[in-house]
Amino acid sequence: MRILIVEDDINLNRQLADALKEAGYVVDTAFDGEEGHFLGDTEPYDAIILDIGLPEMDGITVLEKWRGAGRATPVLILTARDRWSDKVAGIDAGADDYVAKPFHVEEVLARIRALIRRAAGHASSEIICGPVRLDTKSSKATVNGKPLKLTSHEYRLLAYLMHHKGEVVSRTELVEHMYDQDFDRDSNTIEVFVGRLRKKMGVDLIETVRGLGYRIQAPTNAN
Ligand code: CA
Repeated sequence: MRILIVEDDINLNRQLADALKEAGYVVDTAFDGEEGHFLGDTEPYDAIILDIGLPEMDGITVLEKWRGAGRATPVLILTARDRWSDKVAGIDAGADDYVAKPFHVEEVLARIRALIRRAAGHASSEIICGPVRLDTKSSKATVNGKPLKLTSHEYRLLAYLMHHKGEVVSRTELVEHMYDQDFDRDSNTIEVFVGRLRKKMGVDLIETVRGLGYRIQAPTNAN
């Protein structure tokens, strides 16, 4: 899962980025509205954290432009505590949720998890696929109740497939959601990660759909 943070307060931006990376997300950061708008317009994110008070272009304008261009990425806006009008303007502009400053980073993490889950059509924080359970809250997975020891890349891969279970996900899409914009991307590595993940899971749930990509699906006799 890949997140964009648009926040001009350098310390706050870094604090959010660190917490999200710690929780297993890939993070891109922008420090003004123009840069943020450009990234959100050109890169595929699973969710965006957008400050309202930004240099170059304010957050409301950034959001209106994305929505005007048909971009449906879930957006969480950050507002100043005393500016209730920002929340109204933000929600009217197409924000999915908001957090008022100052906030606890944990609250932002919880809201981001919920936005990503809901966008993928999952109501609970645990996503289940046959014997595999993904706990989006603790960023941990189990198979038949046994914890999986995954590297950060393996976790990102599994998390993305699980959020889109039953759907074919292309290698390109996986690459775009597993690495940040600065990473030297090579879609061949995905195959390696899929191989490792299959081995660690020990159950044959990740299907290779020739020429198209991968799909995680519960065995038909299981549900
Ligand atoms: Ca600001």
